[in-house]
Amino acid sequence: MRHRIAVIGAGPAGLTFARVLHRHDHPVTVLERDPAPDARPPGGTLDLHEGLGQLALGKAGLLAEFQALSRPEGQAMRILDVDGTVLRDWHPRPDERANPEIDRGQLRDLLLGPLDVQWGRGVTEVVPGTRDGALVRFADGRQETFDLVVGADGAWSRVRPAVSSATPHYTGVTMIETSLDDVDTRHPDLAQLIGDGSVAVYGVNRNLVAQRNSGGHVKVYAQFRAPLDWHTNVDRLNAGLEASLDLTDVEAVRSSLLALFRGWTAPVLDLLRHGTAFAHRPHYVLPVSHTWAHVPGVTLLGDAAHLMPPLGVGANLAMLEGAELAESVAAALGPGDLDEAVRAFEERMSARAGRLAKMTAAGLERLVSPDPTQALALFDDVQPA
Ligand SMILES: Cc1cc2nc3c(=O)[nH]c(=O)nc-3n(C[C@H](O)[C@H](O)[C@H](O)COP(=O)(O)OP(=O)(O)OC[C@H]3O[C@@H](n4cnc5c(N)ncnc54)[C@H](O)[C@@H]3O)c2cc1C
Repeated sequence: MRHRIAVIGAGPAGLTFARVLHRHDHPVTVLERDPAPDARPPGGTLDLHEGLGQLALGKAGLLAEFQALSRPEGQAMRILDVDGTVLRDWHPRPDERANPEIDRGQLRDLLLGPLDVQWGRGVTEVVPGTRDGALVRFADGRQETFDLVVGADGAWSRVRPAVSSATPHYTGVTMIETSLDDVDTRHPDLAQLIGDGSVAVYGVNRNLVAQRNSGGHVKVYAQFRAPLDWHTNVDRLNAGLEASLDLTDVEAVRSSLLALFRGWTAPVLDLLRHGTAFAHRPHYVLPVSHTWAHVPGVTLLGDAAHLMPPLGVGANLAMLEGAELAESVAAALGPGDLDEAVRAFEERMSARAGRLAKMTAAGLERLVSPDPTQALALFDDVQPA
């Protein structure tokens, strides 16, 4: 039996789900709000773990293509203190394939392959249990019904309210992201500082991480503890600035960040001095134990189900869940089988995601901590010798 399946969102979760179903010759409707694949910058590089994201790609039959595209050398990690002393300088062995990096845009294109995504189809609401199945309402006023609607629409999911009243809350840690282009030619000193992978500097309640993407592109993340509305009175951060900050004013944001990280070694501050644009991204999470009573016809994957702090797990987990749900759906023959398959998947997902949500919440406390040695200790706990 061919079930009518829709997945909302063409991120890592939704695309992996659709690609694995496609591999099993099961039709799937992919509905994405963005008008085109490249409508927004795709975001920074992702490390895909052997037992998570890479496992999912294996289920999609895409592991060899991933290996050809990915950057194993991007696993390298250097940690400095705020004075510039190198505390750790870790390089992967030449054959190390545990967590190779891939640009998000490359991963998206790899997963898209033959999929026929319906772009520009923002969903506003899902109503489960109508006579003809789960009803999807779109921003343009249209509506459609399906046997199963999978919400893979990220942190601010419009599908989630069909199963749960939970909403994301602010962690107390915010982030400003900037980037540098053509770093090897334009900023060779910074290119050397960053190396093939990442450089991280941990201070009191703040840190700065620069991560190499392909093509000489570098993403820089400044993270710090702050009230959500810190920019309405920058002096709250003791940065010596009293005015409110216009987050769209590139030079004003740069000055505030330079004040916030004042006294840090000059090459690290150069990452902020040369950053091109600045995006404010406060970290939100769903409750660690987020679960819901099973609702026939609707389920969630990835950030829509369990938004966590960004500690290198979210996309990996989203992809594995997508692959696992797709395999279960493809194997389910009758309507009762489909519902049972989804119910069993949800139980497995919530147990695993709950463990990882706890781990990443504790990790964020250590990475942005009053005691910067906590971040170093976390690195030593997780990094292979
Ligand atoms: C700075 C940062 C660094 C990170 N680094 C890593 C990392 O190294 N490794 C890792 O594993 N994870 C990382 N993460 C986490 C990772 O980005 C997310 O967990 C992952 O993107 C979740 O995938 P998803 O498919 O569930 O959701 P998303 O990637 O958010 O995709 C959701 C999709 O749904 C679409 N959508 C949204 N609303 C609607 C709607 N109403 N209708 C239709 N479509 C809609 C969106 O346009 C989007 O395409 C990082 C996160 C951040 C912020």
